[in-house]
Amino acid sequence: APPLLEVSDLTKHFLVGGKAGRGRAGGVKAVDGVSFALDRGETLSLVGESGCGKTTTGKSVLRLIEPTAGSVRLEGEELLGLAPSRMRSHRRDMQIIFQDPYASLNPRLSAAEIVAEPMRNFADPAWRGPGALRDRLAWLFAKVGLRPEAMAKLPGEFSGGQRQRLGIARALALKPKLIVCDEPVSALDVSVQAQVVNLLMDLQAEFGLSYLFVAHDLAVVRHISHRVAVMYLGRIVEIAECERLFTDPQHPYTRMLLSAAPIPAPGARTTRVLPIGDPPSALNPPAGCRFHPRCPMARPICRETAPPLIPHGSATGGAHRVACHLVS
Ligand code: SF4
Repeated sequence: APPLLEVSDLTKHFLVGGKAGRGRAGGVKAVDGVSFALDRGETLSLVGESGCGKTTTGKSVLRLIEPTAGSVRLEGEELLGLAPSRMRSHRRDMQIIFQDPYASLNPRLSAAEIVAEPMRNFADPAWRGPGALRDRLAWLFAKVGLRPEAMAKLPGEFSGGQRQRLGIARALALKPKLIVCDEPVSALDVSVQAQVVNLLMDLQAEFGLSYLFVAHDLAVVRHISHRVAVMYLGRIVEIAECERLFTDPQHPYTRMLLSAAPIPAPGARTTRVLPIGDPPSALNPPAGCRFHPRCPMARPICRETAPPLIPHGSATGGAHRVACHLVS
């Protein structure tokens, strides 16, 4: 069987400024040739500094942002270019949880209405009729750890953690296969982060969900991920099984990112300061290896030739891949 999700050469260029569309100037290559696969029941995290393209990648997979080029296959079927009517049947298989649950929930709807909305939109016969819908809602609320009396409340009456539970219930309502988690705990209090992460892990174990997990908190990433992809200026520079990435990072950027982030227990906040400069702009990315202006190991070839993402070592069967001229 094909992997649940297969992304190949995904590219998203944004046109900015008055010269949009006239040649290369004014185009931001937010995502530039990103490829990865995601299995059933697996969590793949996308990490990197802001502007690296991780959120754009997540939203492009769902076509909430329309990619410029590339391929996104769900269970073997190409999604890019699918007509809206065909796309609709896949929409229910793919959901998203946003960073700020408050901004993503209609403040005038009750919690029950918010979670019921996708089920009404898709008019699944199994949930037609008030009894069936009510039972399903009660089940969903229990699954995410919300009390039955929460159903009648408005989002504004919830705490941040409860609102994120509500967002998760809404995402779960249609029995999805894939959930893009876009910084799902970044806006939450430290004490609440671990609870929500553990809830996501429990739901994954119970329903075989796949998560594409976009995050910058490396402690959370290490806790929840099976594999991790490190992005830099629109490209994956290293991808590996989670523990391998954290214990044996190969790419100079990954090492910089990890050394800037001591790994505390999940939930504790870390301040990360990268030792060398700000990331250059995606508007005019450096030629060759995009990391070369900040790389302590850069050689002349790094300024000219972009290193391909290739397997590192033989022990991982190609699962650990690195894009660096000095790593083979
Ligand atoms: Fe550094 Fe060169 Fe490797 Fe890029 S390719 S990470 S500049 S050593």
